[in-house]
Amino acid sequence: MSESKKHPDSSRRAFLATAAVAASAAVIGLRPRTAHAALPHLSEADPLAKSLGYRANHNQVDSAKFPTYKPGEYCGQCRFFLGKPGQASGFAGCQIFAGYAVDANGWCASFNARS
Ligand code: SF4
Repeated sequence: MSESKKHPDSSRRAFLATAAVAASAAVIGLRPRTAHAALPHLSEADPLAKSLGYRANHNQVDSAKFPTYKPGEYCGQCRFFLGKPGQASGFAGCQIFAGYAVDANGWCASFNARS
């Protein structure tokens, strides 16, 4: 008896399992791009952003109020930035401000340089 006669539904089940895995992979593959594109830009007026002195332009950081700021530091150099390392323009997510995109040229008091 051939394999397909012993298990007539086996090829159909195998096809459905493969299709389910492919569909899951497609969803997983699309999620970061879709979620990333949909992130709203972090407002400097956001309460947490305000408390951490976030500025979309690091040149506007109030260094008297946030003395840990060193001129030249910006989000693109921060380990919490989810964009490209060294990215100097555009927006990307930030691990500190979940659900928002921060300006690559910005800064906040949680800045932690990439090693
Ligand atoms: S934690 Fe880093 S990436 Fe996030 S806003 Fe602050 S400086 Fe920018």
